[in-house]
Amino acid sequence: MKALVAVKRVPDGNAPLRLKMDCSGVDLAGMPMRINPFDEAALEWAVQRKEAGTISEIVAVSIGGNACQETLRHALAMGADRAFLIAAEHAPEPLAVAKLLRALAEREQPDLIVLGKQASDDDNAQTAPMLAALLGWPQGVFASNVALENNTLQVTREIEGGQEVLALPLPAVISADLRLANPRYLKLPQLLQAKKKTIETLNPSELGVAPAPRLELLGVAPPPARKPAVKVADARELVALLRQEGLP
Ligand code: AMP
Repeated sequence: MKALVAVKRVPDGNAPLRLKMDCSGVDLAGMPMRINPFDEAALEWAVQRKEAGTISEIVAVSIGGNACQETLRHALAMGADRAFLIAAEHAPEPLAVAKLLRALAEREQPDLIVLGKQASDDDNAQTAPMLAALLGWPQGVFASNVALENNTLQVTREIEGGQEVLALPLPAVISADLRLANPRYLKLPQLLQAKKKTIETLNPSELGVAPAPRLELLGVAPPPARKPAVKVADARELVALLRQEGLP
């Protein structure tokens, strides 16, 4: 069974985000970047299935600038067999990503496509459902557990107030919750071995897709600054303070 895993390069959530002076977007200059954590969980799940013998080949794909090579090297070090970089000046919108992944899937013929449930930079959570719809494949999104048996996937999804379990015939699209798998720590030999694996670069035109933007980002704003905490002596003082703040 062959799995295609989409990995996006995103800002490291542990580093403070800076906005551009004109608030036209996030200032990525000098920002530490990493593999999207949801994609890392998706890839870890696929690598564990490969180690168990249910998946035979893992192909990683990233869409964006040349720097995505670093993300793909990380994926190769984790256990992907080969990788594609689909060259795009900026990370395209979810529909364009879904169209590019569909075109690559038509070339590569995977049995399974695994994505993160959302990219931690834009929080769209749109790409996996769009991709499944474009391919006409069943989807199991926000998966916290996936079992593979007799060409059927059993996908457990966290839903409001409980869990839902779906059975999907292959080929299928799944998107990973962080609970799906705990990513492994990479060791130097794995990182060195990853350098020997191939990353093939494709242009969107080779896949017959023009990833033109359909949305215009009007601006971004930081969250309102939190007021400093106040220490109160007792409950009476707390109630008085809450009344003063206009709280019931
Ligand atoms: P989104 O719909 O933007 O929240 O992204 C959901 C998932 O789609 C991500 O977790 C990735 O698996 C995949 N994805 C989105 N954008 C890209 C990209 N530029 N390169 C590779 N995968 C992507």
